[in-house]
Amino acid sequence: MTDPDQSFSDLKLDRKECPKCGATWINGKHVWRGTGASSDSSELDLAGLVCNPYGNNQCINPKKGVDGGQTWEYRRGYVDAAIESRKNEIENADKMFRTQFPDEDL
Ligand SMILES: [Zn+2]
Repeated sequence: MTDPDQSFSDLKLDRKECPKCGATWINGKHVWRGTGASSDSSELDLAGLVCNPYGNNQCINPKKGVDGGQTWEYRRGYVDAAIESRKNEIENADKMFRTQFPDEDL
């Protein structure tokens, strides 16, 4: 019989959770809750979205206080721009249709 503790020794899972924002680090890598996704900039994005505006000195995010990640302003700006371009597309299509078929009763 092999010692079960020994066979799992390579799979040690180091899980840290920020006591303030609940962000999770697994083996030193930040992973988003819910999605479990992670990227090279996720600590920076977390700082911009959560730790900088809402965190305090309990925060364990090493990137806390660092600018350059995503912010809510950035996300809002992105969504606004997407909605705006879609609206323009529809208006343009509408104008084009009316120019092409001026006799159509719309
Ligand atoms: Zn934090």
